[in-house]
Amino acid sequence: MENTIRMKGTQLSVPSTPVIPFIQGDGIGPDIWSAAVRVFDAAVEQAYGSSRRVVWKEVLAGERAFSETGEWLPEETLTAFREYLVGIKGPLTTPVGGGFRSLNVTLRQVLDLYVCLRPVRHYPGIPSPVKRPESVDMVVFRENTEDVYAGFETPMGDARTVKLLEFLKNELGWNIREDSGLGIKPISRYGSQRLIRAAIRYALKMKRKSVTMVHKGNIMKYTEGAFREWGYELAGAEFPSETIAYSSLAGGDAGGRVVIKDVIADAFLQQILTRPAEYEVIATMNLNGDYISDALAAQVGGIGIAPGANINFDSGNAIFEATHGTAPKYAGLNKVNPSSLILSGKMMFDYLGWDEAAELIEKGIIGTLEDRQVTYDFARLMEGAEEVSTSEYGDAIIRHMDNK
Ligand code: NAD
Repeated sequence: MENTIRMKGTQLSVPSTPVIPFIQGDGIGPDIWSAAVRVFDAAVEQAYGSSRRVVWKEVLAGERAFSETGEWLPEETLTAFREYLVGIKGPLTTPVGGGFRSLNVTLRQVLDLYVCLRPVRHYPGIPSPVKRPESVDMVVFRENTEDVYAGFETPMGDARTVKLLEFLKNELGWNIREDSGLGIKPISRYGSQRLIRAAIRYALKMKRKSVTMVHKGNIMKYTEGAFREWGYELAGAEFPSETIAYSSLAGGDAGGRVVIKDVIADAFLQQILTRPAEYEVIATMNLNGDYISDALAAQVGGIGIAPGANINFDSGNAIFEATHGTAPKYAGLNKVNPSSLILSGKMMFDYLGWDEAAELIEKGIIGTLEDRQVTYDFARLMEGAEEVSTSEYGDAIIRHMDNK
């Protein structure tokens, strides 16, 4: 048990040789995992010599799990993530007709990983469709368990839909077309506030200037509008001296406090293109968060590189993950970009408090990009680039950790 990461109060307690479960993933998963794990081990060894080491424990999910065990998400895998708290995964095929919508959604729901965390920044040299991608430096906290993603949907004509339509007509006087499918959008005070609390704590810890709540509260008053209100209420009640609402600033200085502000989602999607430097930490609901995370990722170089994590900041449970899919046509070709998984690993070491290893990984990536040794997806967009394989890219990152 001395190798198990634990939560002590509100802090993680990390042994020097923690067991970390990993899922290689389907499709290109094994290609990117084998490059990434060498980078992780090299960073830890270089940072701490023999005094720290990750004990990797492979667990199964997805196609490989199905072919070996007959289950897409074996109970053993869930048990390992519960027991060891922190894990990492490659992309998984979504089973068609497998009994659940997506393995990723199932993992998030079963482990109650209520924050989908997506840091978005630009690394010099990465091709971007915008003029000043370096102005983007945001961290998105997307709520993971509620909203129209909660799965409360019924199809057109279904007996449950008919019943619901009748109820809504008779009890509430809502006339909804009979040939409608229905979905419920639950947004709770509890769910909103734990997400916004995590965003504010992060902003305080990382000394970021603001937390912005992104919502469509002008239209959806009792769900998205309430999210905004509950956010201001929480900041005032739990962080009264450390935060200040933008409306109370009146153009004055925040005096080192984190500014709490909000913006309507459509305006936000314009402003991340026109004035991205005004936003730092973003707190938003599930659907908005899905669009926003990918729109921001595109601004700084797209899906081959964007890292992510799903975290429950109360239990400490966290799964770090590549945010792209399984790209089956490239599986086994040693060709694709492993940056998303490698940067997810960097996030994981940050989360464990192994800052030196995290910094070495970032240093290695920056040096490799400066040298323009990149995989095919970037090589075709970068002038003077040398196209390298997945494993060669991993080797280059390890070499660049050494540069003084
Ligand atoms: P995808 O991300 O696999 O592919 C989209 C495009 O991006 C393709 O052109 C692909 O070749 C390219 N691409 C993806 N990752 C790349 C990388 N690391 N380097 C270079 N190019 C890369 O998305 P899709 O085709 O919509 O989905 C394929 C499968 O992946 C589906 O089964 C889907 O359900 C699953 N999926 C899983 C996750 C996850 O596990 N987090 C996320 C998205 C999709």
